[in-house]
Amino acid sequence: VTRLPAREQPLGHVGAVLRECPGCGLFQIEPALSPGMTAQCERCGTTLRRARRHPLEHSLALAVAALILLTVMCLSMLMTVRTSGIVHEAGIFSGPVELVRRSMSGLAAVVVFVTIVAPLAKLIGTIYVLVRIREVTPPKHLRRVFAWVERLSAWSMVEVFVLGVFVAYVKLGDLVTIELGTGVYALLALTFVLVWADGALDREAVWDALSSSHAQDVSREALLTGRVPPHAVGCELCTLVDVPEKHGAPCPRCGSPLHARKPESIAWTWALVMAAAVAYLPANLYPVLTVMQLGAGAPSTILGGVRELIQTGMYPLAALVFFASIAVPMMKMVGLTAMLVSVQTGHTRWLRDRTRLYYVIHWIGRWSMIDIFMEALLGALVQFGGVVTIEPGIGAVAFCAVVILSIFAAETFDPRLMWDAAEGRTNVDQIHVEA
Ligand SMILES: [Zn+2]
Ligand SMILES: [Zn+2]
Repeated sequence: VTRLPAREQPLGHVGAVLRECPGCGLFQIEPALSPGMTAQCERCGTTLRRARRHPLEHSLALAVAALILLTVMCLSMLMTVRTSGIVHEAGIFSGPVELVRRSMSGLAAVVVFVTIVAPLAKLIGTIYVLVRIREVTPPKHLRRVFAWVERLSAWSMVEVFVLGVFVAYVKLGDLVTIELGTGVYALLALTFVLVWADGALDREAVWDALSSSHAQDVSREALLTGRVPPHAVGCELCTLVDVPEKHGAPCPRCGSPLHARKPESIAWTWALVMAAAVAYLPANLYPVLTVMQLGAGAPSTILGGVRELIQTGMYPLAALVFFASIAVPMMKMVGLTAMLVSVQTGHTRWLRDRTRLYYVIHWIGRWSMIDIFMEALLGALVQFGGVVTIEPGIGAVAFCAVVILSIFAAETFDPRLMWDAAEGRTNVDQIHVEA
């Protein structure tokens, strides 16, 4: 038998494991996967794992490349605009700085967090974990670090920012003369690398490499006996199946609290959906932008902005803004409401479709930030006194609240409840505590 040299060994390859499907709650044995294979839940079709050929090496190289590009983007100019002999430059921080100057600090904080802080922290954390995971005994704190990397993923919105910059660029076309700076090219390359890195990273492989042998005890027992222990719980974050001593006990692998179902899922989701619906009104009624050209102009709402794009013949862009800013938030609120009702009425049909819809809603919400990024950038770039100015309006703050609240709402909803309700099981958490 020839042993593979240490570096060639597929890190973290431990064969079959017990998994709880995050979409429907079914416990199942996930077989050992060869590189390139994907495991899907046999009941609802949710993807459980995608195995990669070089699960860790490629991701490390891509994360380092992304970190360099992010640094370049932060240090260089995105765009230079000129009109009537006046020149303005805007970097990635100019938008937020302008928002703070207009006492919209909350909005500025959100923009800085999702375009710089979250991606930066995620990349540094990923690089740190992927470097130290090669040690003979990787330090225990790597699990906490990787758990934070996973939590930050939802808030790293570089690929959405790129579209915001694109919309701003097209809108500016007929107002001023624009030159793209190095920052925009770095941003484009960064988006490409980040999407690639995301696809290349096999999270399961990282968790396997980080877990101590006893962490997989429940999984091993289930493989031997062919039975799942009655109070087994799958970790939301790292997917380890364990039998916690009590409700909310920390996961032995990643440290996040273990619950049979997301705690108070229905109540929280209702509250957040309703809060988002309330904020949706001012978001659409108040202006998000005011364009003043030679002393004339009027504030425009989100819908007004779409109408202007149609009038100037920019149909694809109008469709993009309409979809991201009006259709997506609406679809999220209606979709989540329908799912909440379906849980509470014990609806039994279209379970697979509803589960798929949940994941679509979960993924799509971030794209609504396009408008916010566009407004922040335009506000920073177009300040030419009496010639032409653009000011972000108060509607943008309400709209940002809609986006954030609905992202949280999708996060707190537990799709497994739909399957529980269809099977006539109510309040799985309660049963778990009593037992
Ligand atoms: Zn499933
Ligand atoms: Zn865990």
